[in-house]
Amino acid sequence: MGLLPVRVQPIGNELAIAWNDGGESYLKLADLRRLCPCAGCAGERDLLGRLMKGPDRPLTAESFRVAGTAPVGGYALQIYWEDGHSDGLYLYTRLREWGDAPPALPPVNPAPLLPVR
Ligand SMILES: [Zn+2]
Repeated sequence: MGLLPVRVQPIGNELAIAWNDGGESYLKLADLRRLCPCAGCAGERDLLGRLMKGPDRPLTAESFRVAGTAPVGGYALQIYWEDGHSDGLYLYTRLREWGDAPPALPPVNPAPLLPVR
């Protein structure tokens, strides 16, 4: 049996996850939102490997609060943020890694992409 959460509970400014192997993860909501893996937040690479990313949406206090979560396909957690965003699917294996070792966060103001000559 693979890694599965048995309980997912927002507590304060963290998301607490109890895993089916007995482990627990406590993940900061602000970190999770900034690590949102959806195409709109994380960007998508085109055929030439260039990172395509939409304009940054302004984040508000609601952006860092969880309205709910739902398991997806036995491998990921969908997080519904209070500002209406819910496109990101967080892989269980990733969530566990981030709980065991704090994740590297993306830069707040990414440098503009320059064309490759
Ligand atoms: Zn996103």
